[in-house]
Amino acid sequence: MSVYLDNASTTKPCKEAVQSAVSAMTENYGNPSSLHRAGLSAQLAVDGARKIIADSLGTESQNIYFTSGATESNNLALRGIASAYSKKRKKIVASSVEHASVDETLSDLGRKGFEIVRVSPRQDGLFYAEDFVKACDGDTFMITMMYVNNETGYILPVREVFTAVKKRFPEIVTHTDCVQAYMKIPVRAYNLNADLISLSGHKVHAVKGTGALYIKKGIRVIPTVTGGKQERGIRSGTESVPLICSFGSAVEVLAPSIKQRYEKVQGLKNYLLGKISANQDIYINSSESGSPYIVNISVGKRSEIMLHYLESKGIYVSSGSACSKGEQSGVLGEFGFKGRRADSALRISMTAETTENELDLFVDTLLEGMESLRG
Ligand code: PMP
Repeated sequence: MSVYLDNASTTKPCKEAVQSAVSAMTENYGNPSSLHRAGLSAQLAVDGARKIIADSLGTESQNIYFTSGATESNNLALRGIASAYSKKRKKIVASSVEHASVDETLSDLGRKGFEIVRVSPRQDGLFYAEDFVKACDGDTFMITMMYVNNETGYILPVREVFTAVKKRFPEIVTHTDCVQAYMKIPVRAYNLNADLISLSGHKVHAVKGTGALYIKKGIRVIPTVTGGKQERGIRSGTESVPLICSFGSAVEVLAPSIKQRYEKVQGLKNYLLGKISANQDIYINSSESGSPYIVNISVGKRSEIMLHYLESKGIYVSSGSACSKGEQSGVLGEFGFKGRRADSALRISMTAETTENELDLFVDTLLEGMESLRG
């Protein structure tokens, strides 16, 4: 038996997502750009998925562009806005805890002559809107800030920050990476005051290799991939109909149950913390008000050693951010967790399907591991 507690890295595709991918591969395999009936049928399937995702963000289909995943969405958003808006202005403001697909892209833009200002949380681990407003000035054309941090589950005050920044500098474009928030907490484009939103399919039980970028009507993005002008010229290349359909189906299943699942997972988080919080050798790095889907703890033993111990017993968790393959991202340090606390961090990430039994097994095995690795 295995216990999968690494859902922030990726999720198991739901049966509806698999079925619609298979049916797009076996039956609806036309090219959406073709002018015959097979092409039209594929186009209709893509448009159906687009509508589902648009509805889930409270927007219209014309504002949704499919990509290969959130890494591409983030690149397209940041590079596309930088190309379109940087004639006179050169500064981009970001949070200091972004995922590598944002942070590395910013570093690259920095090497190309843009000024990148990263705003850190204060000593209490929280972000404050006024710090972002202070970091912006007349030279700033974009601000980017993730909604839920993928390592700690901290919820960042995106709405407050974007609203405060737009109030003072209405011309600044706002982008948010909502990968770990989407389908877990409500993500509404209008509410967040976001001009661009990045989403990933495989974090919400769709098949890997698909994502989307919401671009508010009127915001200019210069494409990073040019060619046959698919996705209204924003992302050329034949659409992956099976993956897009799987994304639409997964969101259709999840969208009505955001609140119920949140409450269920909050119960699981409380259960887990209840079992471990009295243990003096375990430190909780997640905050009480964070997303319950991600729990980050430190156990005194190097993350990789504990991760492999757990793995040997069939339990899968992650050390910090799974995307970095064990390489430390510095994000925990930004939240104030340094040295041994960061070296020994484990990320447990759940879904509404996670059970208390699985958490029992995880905790028992963790305690066993802490004991047997002590010597
Ligand atoms: N942003 C965040 C916050 C993520 O957690 C991830 C996935 N680890 C990504 C972006 C990249 O998503 P994808 O795997 O779809 O490229």
